[in-house]
Parts: sequence; structure tokens; C-alpha cells
Amino acid sequence: MVFQGLADRLQQTFNKLKKKGKITEADVKEALREVRLALLEADVNFKIVKQFIDKVKDRAVGQEILGSLTPGQQVIKLVNEELTELMGGTQSKLTISSSPPTVVMMVGLQGAGKTTSSGKLANYLKKQNRRPLLVACDIYRPAAIKQIQVLGQQLDIPVFSMGDKNSPVNIANAAIEHAKRHGNDYVIIDTAGRLHIDEALMDELIAVKGQVSPDEILLVVDAMTGQDAVNVAESFHKQLTLSGVVLTKLDGDTRGGAALSVKAVTGCPIKFAGMGEKLDALEPFHPDRMASRILGMGDVLSLIEKAQEGMDQDKAKELEKKMRNAEFTFDDFLDQMEQVRKMGPLDQVLGMLPGANKIKGIQNMQVDEKQLARVEAIVKSMTKHEKQNPEVINASRRKRIAAGSGTQVSDVNRLLKQFTDMKKMMKQFTSVQKGKGKKKFKL
Ligand code: GDP
Repeated sequence: MVFQGLADRLQQTFNKLKKKGKITEADVKEALREVRLALLEADVNFKIVKQFIDKVKDRAVGQEILGSLTPGQQVIKLVNEELTELMGGTQSKLTISSSPPTVVMMVGLQGAGKTTSSGKLANYLKKQNRRPLLVACDIYRPAAIKQIQVLGQQLDIPVFSMGDKNSPVNIANAAIEHAKRHGNDYVIIDTAGRLHIDEALMDELIAVKGQVSPDEILLVVDAMTGQDAVNVAESFHKQLTLSGVVLTKLDGDTRGGAALSVKAVTGCPIKFAGMGEKLDALEPFHPDRMASRILGMGDVLSLIEKAQEGMDQDKAKELEKKMRNAEFTFDDFLDQMEQVRKMGPLDQVLGMLPGANKIKGIQNMQVDEKQLARVEAIVKSMTKHEKQNPEVINASRRKRIAAGSGTQVSDVNRLLKQFTDMKKMMKQFTSVQKGKGKKKFKL
């Protein structure tokens, strides 16, 4: 899971702090020392770590902690706010040009995930009823044109290509004319990459930029490369003045330092995060939600958005209403499980839940189809009344349900517990919403 190590360490530190009724300046100092080490271990740039700790310390020893009834939680709140700030504060959205098409130029080193991210971005826009056009401007890497054409076919998105005999500047230019004629409102240009930054590459990118004046120049960087990703971003930004960064492979076993440093070092916001190889694994980057995920507060909002993507809008609205009114039943639970199945790797989905990283083994969890079938059988063995009022399911009913579904009573018990936990989580979420975030830090 993203930031697993960092999340574990920070949460250990804060758990110690939360247990104390009163905290002294020495407690805060000790906690911040541990936060500092955790950040360094997560491969965050050391200068950024120093600035970060100084800021939190300044605020912590000032008025904000003293006089507070829950000093431990106050420190967590401070760290959460500063982590959010470090990653850019608020979400940085993709520009929309007032005179379409909006031109997005994708740049980056070879292997960073540029072509895949171009496809993912086009897919993301298509889901929002946009009409993107993908452009194959990498004329050097042998299979690059083919790769983007295959992506286009899979996604049912048009790809503009002129083979490898024309210059990227000409191709980009012709693509924009094509988009204007065909009503494409976004043009996503997949440019060439190299293994290392070199002058010829930069000259070519500068020439394309000069010709098409893109609304966005997004640098695709691989989060697995840690501080190298930050250095690459710095170099590209110097030459091209980037408008944003797409950080890929955040689903891997990355320490996360790049995500936490890139904005602070370069000033470029992270606009999207790649969370897997599949073509729907691209998420808009929300600094506040990412900070909450790191601190184990979960990212319920992203989870819900992900769920909504997978289901039809009416169903989503109905579910939201049910959650708000705590009317969630076993029928909805079953429905949800089906949706989750469609959403992708379960570990990623569960990773967004508050406190999920405390559950052992969640990192490598796969959707266990057998387990899902068992749950389905149990729910289907319940009466309508039981599904809507699970509290009536007493011992004899449990026995009957187990027999009816070919499972053990312990399986039924486990499911009932899961369901209750899920309801509890929803309650927490709705109270956070109602309280406008006031209760966010009460874990
Ligand atoms: P390019 O050379 O920059 O165009 O890179 P590609 O788009 O060809 O991607 C290189 C490899 O990284 C491919 O195997 C992709 O499937 C993989 N990849 C890209 N983005 C992600 C991501 O977010 N997560 C994971 N796990 N793999 C990714």
C-alpha cells in the first residue's frame, strides 16, 4: 500500500501521544523527532523534512497546543495540515482552455509510464463526457506508436498518428487541426522519452511546446525512483516550465518520498496519481486526502468516488442517502460487494479505509472469489426481514442460515460482525460530514 512504512511509523508515534492526557514540550519534541525520522526513512528530501518539522514545532509550542483539551489530537491535526500543505494544499485541477481543444503535452523519461498515463488520462476525460484525442509523437521508440494505438482501441478513443517519418512538431500541429475539425475538446500529446535527460530530447520538447502552446505540460514521473523523481522534475521544470506532475506507480511498494517532496522542491503540483497498470487506475491527486491516508484516517471520500464510478448514478445516490440515514441493509451489502469486485484490487480499495493499515495482511490481500461466494450464499439464506434488520439474527437463526448456505455458524458470525463494523464506519463518516470535519481527528 502507498506509504505503508511511513503510515505505520507515524501512527505508532501518535498512538503514544494520544494516550497522554497532558503533554509536555518534551513529549512534543520526542514525537517530532520520530516524525522527522519517519519522513527521512520515507525518502523525503532532507531540506523539506527540516522545514516541515520547524513549521510544526513553531505551531505546536505556540498557542495551538497549550490550553487544548486534547493535546495529542491537536498535534496530529497540525501534522495533518502541514502534510497537506506540503503536497500542495488543495487539489490542482486540469486546465480547461476557453478556446478548445485544450492541449495537454505529456513528457517524461522512458519507462515512467508516460504512454500508459496518456491513455489513462484520455479515459478519465472520456468518462467525464469529454472527447479526447490521443497523439502519437514518440517517433523513436520502436513500439511506441503501436502501443498508443492499441490503448486507443481498448478505450475506444481516437489516436492521431503520422507514422515515424514526420517530425513531432509537424505531427502535433496536424493533430490539433484534426481535433478542431473533428470536435475533440482535449488533445493529449504523448511525446518521446529517453533513458536520461539529454539535450536533443529537451530541444525537441521545447520545439513542440513553442509550436502548439500547450495549456498543460504534465511531467510523468515514477514514484518508485524516489528522490530521482524529484531531480528529474526539477530539470524538466527548468527547461519547460511544467504545469503539473503525474506521479505513477504509487500502488507499488514505494516509500512515498517523491509524492511528499515534488511540490515543495519544484513548485509544480501533483495533478494525478497512477495507482496501477489498469487503464482506470489514475486518480486526481488530493493532498488533504493523501495526508489523511498517511495518518491512518482513511480516505473515505476517494473510496466513495471510486465506488460511484463503478455504479450507475441513481444507485450511487440511493446508497449515499442510505448511508446518511444509516438504512444500509444486507441487500445493499451484497450489492456493494459486487461493486467492489468491479473496482479492482481489494487491497487498494480497503487501503482507503480509516485504520486499514493496522489490519495485518491487508497489503497482499486479493479478492478471494470463494470467500465472496460464501458471503453471497449466507446473505441469500437470510429472510427479507433478517436482511433488513440484522439485529434479529439470534443463535437459532444463525444456525439455520449456516445450514441453509452450507457454511459454519462461525462464518455467519464473522459476516455479521463485518456488517456491523461497516455500519459503524459509515456512521463515523456521516458524523464527519455533518460536523464539517470537526470530528475528523477522533479516531
Ligand atoms: P513510457 O515509456 O513512459 O511511455 O512508459 P509506459 O507507459 O510504457 O509504462 C512503463 C511500464 O510501467 C508499463 O509496464 C506500465 O504498465 C507500467 N505502469 C505505468 N503506470 C503505472 C502505475 O501507475 N502503476 C503500475 N504498477 N505500473 C504502471
